[in-house]
Amino acid sequence: MAVNEKDIEAIVRSVLDGMKGTSPAPSSYSGGEIPKTAHVAMLTELKHFEIKEYPIPEVGDDDILVKVEGCGVCGTDAHEYKNDPFGLIPVVLGHEGTGEIIKMGKNVKKDSAGKDLNVGDKVVTCMIFKDDPDITMFDLNKQNVGGADVYGLLPDDDIHLNGWFSDYMIIRGGSTVFNVSDLDLDSRILIEPCAVLVHAVERAKTTGILRFNSRVAVQGCGPIGLICIAILKTMGLVNIVAVDGNEQRLNFAKRLGASETVNFTEFKGIEALAEGVKNAFGGHLADFAFQCTGNPHAHSNIYKFIRNGGGLCELGFFINGGDAVINPHFDMCSKEITLVGSWVYTLRDYATTFDFLKSANAMGLPIKELITHKFPLEDINEALETNLAMTGLKIAIVNR
Ligand SMILES: [Zn+2]
Repeated sequence: MAVNEKDIEAIVRSVLDGMKGTSPAPSSYSGGEIPKTAHVAMLTELKHFEIKEYPIPEVGDDDILVKVEGCGVCGTDAHEYKNDPFGLIPVVLGHEGTGEIIKMGKNVKKDSAGKDLNVGDKVVTCMIFKDDPDITMFDLNKQNVGGADVYGLLPDDDIHLNGWFSDYMIIRGGSTVFNVSDLDLDSRILIEPCAVLVHAVERAKTTGILRFNSRVAVQGCGPIGLICIAILKTMGLVNIVAVDGNEQRLNFAKRLGASETVNFTEFKGIEALAEGVKNAFGGHLADFAFQCTGNPHAHSNIYKFIRNGGGLCELGFFINGGDAVINPHFDMCSKEITLVGSWVYTLRDYATTFDFLKSANAMGLPIKELITHKFPLEDINEALETNLAMTGLKIAIVNR
């Protein structure tokens, strides 16, 4: 795609605007009176959310009351909805949420990155502890998941307003919270899944193999693989081959930055498929590959796409997807593959993600088109069924 002068001007202007912060710091909540009650979508039994109404409690000195604008539906929400593997029911789910501060306790002054917080600011929470910033901010490999102050993953408590599938939520003192007023609603809904990929790419960079001119294969073009491609694009990589079985997703992969695509349904057997990937790179195997599917066969196959001395980041198995068979001699030893695994993200990756989204938007990457379906809170059961049907990409609850 050729970028003309006008495009460059628009990109520069938008980046500069982003640095200045286009919106003046809001200082008051403009939405009128704060209601007495809030609504939450509570998972009361398998595959059934019920909308429940609870009083909005007094906001404590360290707490924040948020008017929820929207929340993405995550694979883990769908997993919980279908199976309740952790026995959380009754539970208010939704952790990819965002909203506006409408009331804060007197002790609340700054977000987890040190940015001022005011009524009217747009915020997100994060599943990472901030209690030990030295570890969570700077060590890539430790403490990449939190516990006590997460939202949308804990069983119901006496406050009830503790998940983003709701219209009002209380962020308790000590929670990780970020001021993201400079991002639009759709971008804010995409922060959490994008952070997973920022982390994966940071893990990949530790191998020393991922460089500007690297040939990178991305296997799997669901939301995770597609976001991976967009991140590589914003980093300046140009030789990106997307591998998937769905032509529509492959077309989207191209719009997000893939230089070539390989539809695996057109190849019989792994040898032929590996040849297809090689041809897509102009006769070379990949220097590096990202495995973004939850299919063990896909893990077994991906080694065949990678050159001797290349690298692999496996991030597709967010949950247990079973065992994969590889041949340690041919796949790993004799090729001297450097392998990294990746799971969740660190607090630092979360902050990096805000900048990634600004860059992607400024470059005109259609990242927000990842949100293919929006449902109001009362249709949350349908939203989860749509997620399970896997016909869309990112499903979101958006409040009116
Ligand atoms: Zn998630």
